[in-house]
Order: sequence, then C-alpha cells, then structure tokens
Amino acid sequence: MRVNIKQLREAELVRFVEGLGQEPYRARQIINWLYKRYASSFDEMTDLSKELREELNRKAFIPELRPLKSLTSRDGTKKFLFELDDGETIESVLIPEGDRNTLCISSQVGCRRACRFCITGRLGLRRDLKAFEIVDQVIAVKKLLRGLRITNIVFMGMGEPLDNTDEVIEAIKRITGPMGLSKKRITLSTVGIIPEIRRLYRAVPGINLAISLNATTDETRNRLMPVNREYPLRRLIDVCRSLPIGPRRRITFEYILIDGVNDSDEDAKRLLRLLRGIRAKVNLIPYNPVPNHTFKRPPDERISAFQRILRDAGITTLIRKSKGVDIEAACGQLRASYLRVRGG
Ligand code: SF4
Repeated sequence: MRVNIKQLREAELVRFVEGLGQEPYRARQIINWLYKRYASSFDEMTDLSKELREELNRKAFIPELRPLKSLTSRDGTKKFLFELDDGETIESVLIPEGDRNTLCISSQVGCRRACRFCITGRLGLRRDLKAFEIVDQVIAVKKLLRGLRITNIVFMGMGEPLDNTDEVIEAIKRITGPMGLSKKRITLSTVGIIPEIRRLYRAVPGINLAISLNATTDETRNRLMPVNREYPLRRLIDVCRSLPIGPRRRITFEYILIDGVNDSDEDAKRLLRLLRGIRAKVNLIPYNPVPNHTFKRPPDERISAFQRILRDAGITTLIRKSKGVDIEAACGQLRASYLRVRGG
C-alpha cells in the first residue's frame, strides 16, 4: 500500500527516505516542496533525481482536499467546502479585511461539545482531522485563490481544537515552520479544555488564545455549553490568569450575545469582575440567527450598552460584525446544507 507522505511527521519522513536508500536531507527537500511550493505530485519535485521521483510515485502519494463548493459573500467573505479522502466534508472561511486575509480553519469533522448556539455542535463528532488535513485547508485555499497571501489563521472552524490537540499542535508546527507564518498570527479558540490549554502553551508558546466564554455564571454557561460542567467558569478563568501570555499580548474572550440569555447589564458587570487581573480583550459577537432555533440577536441598543460597560472600565471590547451572513457563514451551515442536498 502506498504511504500518505503528508501523514508522516518529519522524523518519520527522514526514516522513509532513508529506507529508500536516500540521504536524510531529501526529507527536507520534500517538505519544502509540499509546504512552500504546494506540490501536488512528486514529478514537480525537480531537484530530486528522476529515479527517486519514480520511486516515490510507486511507494507514496500526496493527498489533497477536494473542493466541493465555494460561496462568496457580498462583504467578500468566502466559504469553502472540502471533501476528505473518506468522503467526510469540512469547511474553511476566508475573511478579507483591509490588508489582512484571515483564514478560519476546522480541526474536526463535527464536534462533540454540543454548544447550544452552534450548528456544528448538532452534528456530533464524526472524527478528528489529521494534521495534514488541517494544513491542507490553508494550501487548498491558497491554490484556489492563486497564491493569495493568508496573513492570519484562526482555529475557529468546525470542531474543538483542544479535543484534537496532538494533531493541531503538529499542524501549527507545519504552518509556522516550513510555511513560515508567525505564531503571533495564529489564534486558537477553545471552549476551555483546561489541561489541554496548558499543554498547548508548553508545545507552541506564543500563539494567541481565544476563550469562547459566552456566559458569566455557571448556571447559564452550563446551559449554553455542556463543557462547563467539566471545566467550570471559575477554574477556567483562574487558568487564564496563570498563563504566561508574554509581554504586550492579551487573551481574547469571545462572547456571543443572545437576547435575554446573557446580554444584561448584570452580565456585563459580572464579566468585568471575572476578567479582573487578566490582560484581556473582549469580542462581542451578536448571535447570528439560524433556522430552527429559538435564540435571537439582541437589539442594537442592548449590544452597545453591554459594550459600553466593559469599555468604560478600560477593557478593549469590539463588536464583531457578522461576516458572510448571506452565504451561511455560521460554522457548519454550508456543510449542513450540502448534506441536505446530497441526502447525507
Ligand atoms: S462552538 Fe465549537 S466547541 Fe462548541 S459545539 Fe461548536 S464547534 Fe464544538
């Protein structure tokens, strides 16, 4: 059976090329072709001998994501649906803003965390992505958009990245290693899997952390995010307070504002108290209504009032505009509609 060359970690690739009777530096050449030049065949690797390329063709293959569908929003947001080797599908979203092109990538097919406000959560977990499948989202989008420079990457697509930490860490190493993106330009968003946050910080210090918080009491957070029963609010906040986040860096707290659920003045004041002593910034995300759900977006005045309370206390608080509302940009929506059409 042929080997999936992108499945191999660097040390395994070295052993693989040595097994073909080659010098270890050939592994580095192959890595450069895969991650700097996005080669999709061994025949492109012209600094390898013809014999080696033929040998590689016999013994290995280079997997690629299959683009199934892409949609472009009026605001420029582009959403991509990709098919994996086993027929599963994942989404990635490109958000161009000024001189930034931020790519939001998925780390799992589906998700087991069942957050009440999330479409992906309704799918349940189908499987974890491998590191190469995470990185291939970046490569596939670059190829589809003819070499577009992706300036920032956010792990905010389908899945909870810290339920798949090993593969996510390996993906970050490939993106920041051979692909050359600075760790400062990568943000990982988590619902707060406490032990894995620490492990992530040890393995790839310097990436940005975003905590999907969404509530200021255990009662409300338990209701919105079942993960809170395992890792309650106070413990999560204490861990955030203890993280070595580095000078001039801040932890982002994401807060989806849902009408009548978590958007009161009292919530804003409790949030202030929770964040005391943490270098924090807050992203408020007005809930983006989806079909068959009772949650509503709060009125604009409520959103502004919530923001004002935090800002007046000196916390940088942004209201994140919904991107790509017209193209089903809420995570999981495109996949869901594709499966409806396909009957999956
Ligand atoms: S919000 Fe994130 S962690 Fe929660 S169900 Fe959706 S994908 Fe999973």
